[in-house]
Amino acid sequence: MEELEREYGISNAVKLASNENPLGPSPMAVAAMQQAMGKLHRYPDGSGYYLTRKLADKMKVAPENLVLGNGSDEVIGMLTRALLAPGDEVVMSRSSFSMYEILTRLANAKPVFVPLSAMAIDLDAILAAITPRTRLIFLTNPNNPTGMAFSAEQFDRFLKAVPPEVVVVLDEAYIEFARDEAVADSLDFLNDVRPLVGLRTFSKVYGLAGLRVGYGMMPPALAELLNRTRQPFNVNSLAQVAAMAAIDDTDFLQKTLQVVHDGLDFLYAGLDRLGIEYFPSQANFFLINVKRDAGEVFEAMLRQGVIIRSMISYGYPEFIRVTAGLPAENERFLKALGEVLS
Ligand SMILES: *Cc1c(COP(=O)(O)O)cnc(C)c1O
Repeated sequence: MEELEREYGISNAVKLASNENPLGPSPMAVAAMQQAMGKLHRYPDGSGYYLTRKLADKMKVAPENLVLGNGSDEVIGMLTRALLAPGDEVVMSRSSFSMYEILTRLANAKPVFVPLSAMAIDLDAILAAITPRTRLIFLTNPNNPTGMAFSAEQFDRFLKAVPPEVVVVLDEAYIEFARDEAVADSLDFLNDVRPLVGLRTFSKVYGLAGLRVGYGMMPPALAELLNRTRQPFNVNSLAQVAAMAAIDDTDFLQKTLQVVHDGLDFLYAGLDRLGIEYFPSQANFFLINVKRDAGEVFEAMLRQGVIIRSMISYGYPEFIRVTAGLPAENERFLKALGEVLS
C-alpha cells in the first residue's frame, strides 16, 4: 500500500483489493498478543496444543482431525507435498485461487483446469475431469474471485460420485460471510474415512491476515501424514494466542459481518444507480463487469487513490474484484468508479 502511494503520489489510499477485514484485527487478539510479547524469547508450542483444542471444541471435531498452518496457504502446500507424485493430476476451476496451481506445479504434478459455468464452479464438469491419475480436487466455496457458492445438496451429490481414493479439498476461507443458509459446510461432511479436507483461515473474518494462521480439518490418518511434513514451529506463538482470543471475540465477529453485509448492499445499490453490472456474492468481495479493459480501470482507480483488483490474470479481462470496506471507503469507491467509467 505504501509503495503504491509513493509511486502514484497519492495519500490516504483505500485498499479494497485483498478481501481483508476493513475493521482491522480483532481487539481481543491484539490484547492477547500484547500480553504474550514478554515471552517471545521462547519457542512456540510446536503442537499448537491449546489452539488445536480450542478449535476442536468450537468446530466439534477431535484434535486429531486438525492441522494448523502458517495461513491456510501452508496447509495447501502440505497437501500437495505429501500427496502428489510427478505426473499426478489435480483438478481445479480455471478461475480460482492461484496457490492451488502454483503449489501443484511445485510438486511436479499437473493442474487440470475446468471452466466455470455461469460464474459458478461446475461440479459436474469437475467430476468429468477425474482420471485414474487424479489425486486431489480443489474447490473454493464461496468461490474466489466470483463469490458464488454451491449448496450442501449439490456438494453431497458431487462427493458421492468422487472415487473414494481422491482427496477433495473444500477451501472455506470465506464461509463465515455466506448469507445463504443452503451453502455447503465441510463440517456436515467430514468423517474419519472419506478423504475430505475443510480449509479455514484467520485471515479474513478474524482480521489476522498479517499473522498467518489457518487450519485444515480432515480424517486423522491424513492429518497425521500432513503433520509429518510441516516445520516444527510453523505457527508462531503470537499467532497461536491471537487466534485463540479471536475465536472468543464474538462481538468483533458480529461487527465484521454487519459491516461487510451492509457494505455489500450499499455497493450493490450504488452500482444499480450507476447502471453497472455486478455479481452478488456470498463472500466479502464481488465482481464488477466494467465492460472495458480492467487494467486501465485499475490504473485509473489507483490515480483516484482506490486500490482494487483487476481480474485479467483470472481470465476476465473486463472484470474487477472489490472487497467490501468501511462506509466511507465504499462511498469513495463508488464515486471514483462513477468518474472513471463516465
Ligand atoms: C484468502 C484466501 C485464503 C487464505 O489464505 P491464508 O493463507 O490463510 O491467508 C485461502 N484460500 C482462498 C481462496 C483465499 O482467498
